[in-house]
Amino acid sequence: MTINSEINQRVTQLRQQLQKANYAYYVLDDPIMEDAVYDQLYRELDNLETEYPQLITPDSPTQRVGDQPASQFVSVTHNIPLYSLENAFNLEELKAWENRWQRYHEAEDFNSIEYVCELKIDGSALALTYENGLLIRGVTRGDGTTGEEITQNVRTIRSIPLKLNIDNPPPIVEVRGEAFLPLDEFDRINQQREEKGEALFANPRNAAAGTLRQLDPKIVDQRRLQFFAYTLHLEETEIKSQWQSLNYLENSGFLVNPHRQLCQSLDEVADYFKQWETKRKDLPYMTDGVVVKINDYSLQKALGFTQKFPRWAIALKYPAEEAPTLVKDIIVNVGRTGAVTPMAVMEPVHLAGTTVQKATLHNGDRIAQLDIRVGDTVIIRKAGEIIPEVVRVLPELRPPNTEPYEMPDRCPECHSPLIRPPQEAVLRCMNLSCGAILRGSLVHWASRDALDIRGLGEKIVGLLIDNGLVNSIADLYDLTPEKIANLERMGSKSADKLINAIEESKQQPFSRVLYGLGIRYVGSVTANLLTKNFPSIDQLSQASFASLSSVYGVGEEIAQSIIDWFSIEKNVNLIQQLKKVGLQLETSSPQTTTVESSPTPLSGKTFVITGTLPSLKRNEAKALIEKAGGKVTGSISKKTDYLLLGENAGSKLIKAQELGINQLSEADLLTLLQTD
Ligand code: NAD
Repeated sequence: MTINSEINQRVTQLRQQLQKANYAYYVLDDPIMEDAVYDQLYRELDNLETEYPQLITPDSPTQRVGDQPASQFVSVTHNIPLYSLENAFNLEELKAWENRWQRYHEAEDFNSIEYVCELKIDGSALALTYENGLLIRGVTRGDGTTGEEITQNVRTIRSIPLKLNIDNPPPIVEVRGEAFLPLDEFDRINQQREEKGEALFANPRNAAAGTLRQLDPKIVDQRRLQFFAYTLHLEETEIKSQWQSLNYLENSGFLVNPHRQLCQSLDEVADYFKQWETKRKDLPYMTDGVVVKINDYSLQKALGFTQKFPRWAIALKYPAEEAPTLVKDIIVNVGRTGAVTPMAVMEPVHLAGTTVQKATLHNGDRIAQLDIRVGDTVIIRKAGEIIPEVVRVLPELRPPNTEPYEMPDRCPECHSPLIRPPQEAVLRCMNLSCGAILRGSLVHWASRDALDIRGLGEKIVGLLIDNGLVNSIADLYDLTPEKIANLERMGSKSADKLINAIEESKQQPFSRVLYGLGIRYVGSVTANLLTKNFPSIDQLSQASFASLSSVYGVGEEIAQSIIDWFSIEKNVNLIQQLKKVGLQLETSSPQTTTVESSPTPLSGKTFVITGTLPSLKRNEAKALIEKAGGKVTGSISKKTDYLLLGENAGSKLIKAQELGINQLSEADLLTLLQTD
């Protein structure tokens, strides 16, 4: 078979890129890419090599167990290699693994198979040797065959017993497990490094690996590493299963992860995996998946190992929030405010549980800054519910003859020239009659948090505009079932339903109407605040800049945006028309806003506290938050709503800034508790 040069080139590029990543990760403890990105590029290379085996080279990263250890320590050959684990990225792949090992071992009756589920701790594997019950050696995993002897460092880890807590200990025991840094400790170390102007650790795992390989055991001692034991090797033993091993380890004085579970079927494994997908975010240490092991040692033995993995275990990884993919095209989208947003159209990729094909590129400056080109391999990230975005390009994987991207100078919808207002990074279409702006405004008006008009989605809005039935939001209220019954794929039943839904929207409270108008910066929370302070649209439209910006939570930018909106005649006319058709443009009772209707002001909100607060002690702040229905957790994640910020905040602040999490001062918190 001839292999086209594009494939050849891709394989070479992937190999070089992965080799570079391996070196940074294993030798320097300073990764240059996210694990999920590494995993996916690795998979791409592995798949290409499976399809075109003639392209495999002996130095390919797919051909080795781990990477070479660094050289400061004495190398030790492991008696039993520390294998890697095969990865599964979803439940289908887990099922495929079960089918595979059962096919491999046809003779057995698999009705009563047991699996042990353990959380996959994101740390660094260690092999510990005990002679007559005493710890005599600690070795890193290294490349799986050879590791580094770091016994002095291992001895500083408090959860590793120096002497086994059992009578008549066996002459030789090898215990394996994961050394890791708890998140609080990771934060503390990074905070210290920041203060000293040292480079920060990328993640707790690299911090743990880097710490284990410190030449000075005193430094290791200061960083409180922990250790979960998960594998036991005994010469002569009564122990017949992984589950028994874990209990034996626990009884011998090791810390064994308490969240392990013995499962009787793959369905139970799937339940465990799903359950921990959320719960793991509250753990004080990082986990990146679940390790599933066949419990019975005799079955494990019968299955054995491939060149790289045990056949009897697999790591089921939680969905990644970052992934690499290929940019097939760059298009621009005109939103309801006229903002022109470039989007990357990509090779579909799995990300945080969904398939993603488009990612926002924000604006022309961002494209130029990252130098994103059609044909590039880029890394995309999805933070929480937010639309995925491109975080960076992998320039090594760029094909030849690509061109830098240039933003258009005319609106792709109405062809009027695009303007870049001073101080803004986005281009805008300023034509208020532009079809794209009208379409966006109507879709926003009908959206769930606004007027919530069921059945009025992007398609129907497009049809209404294209058929000349609607030219503004107010026109929606002139529609009748007869007028719309002839639209494509609209039966008389759905026409009635839609008109009813539009009619019902007249009952939606003022705050939703205000949000639905789509005034820049006025989101649903701000709309709530505004309607509380200005109970009618007339009061709001006449409010001064000073009175608007003095409302807590409404800054100067929002105040100016409201004033600008009401200064446009077209908008004033729209309000008059909406009044006429009977929309709620004043609050009927002050109790209608969603914020007020929640049982307690902070209900459902998650807080993280960092730094020293001016007057409250941490536990006092925590108690106040909890009393108001909020929750306080120890580490920042996408689920965090607010970071309560005191003096001398450290890496939590950096993380919160990265994730765009709201920051509150103690004073803000107290105001929030009073005003809401
Ligand atoms: P792995 O990390 O996917 O899985 C094996 C490891 O899981 C074991 O060595 C052990 O350390 C750990 N583990 C945690 N809990 C466990 C438990 N209960 N039972 C058994 N093992 C447990 O595989 P690997 O071969 O150690 O490393 C490969 C991974 O390293 C890749 O998947 C990739 O994510 C990462 N990597 C990243 C880069 C990068 O540039 N970011 C480079 C190279 C490798």
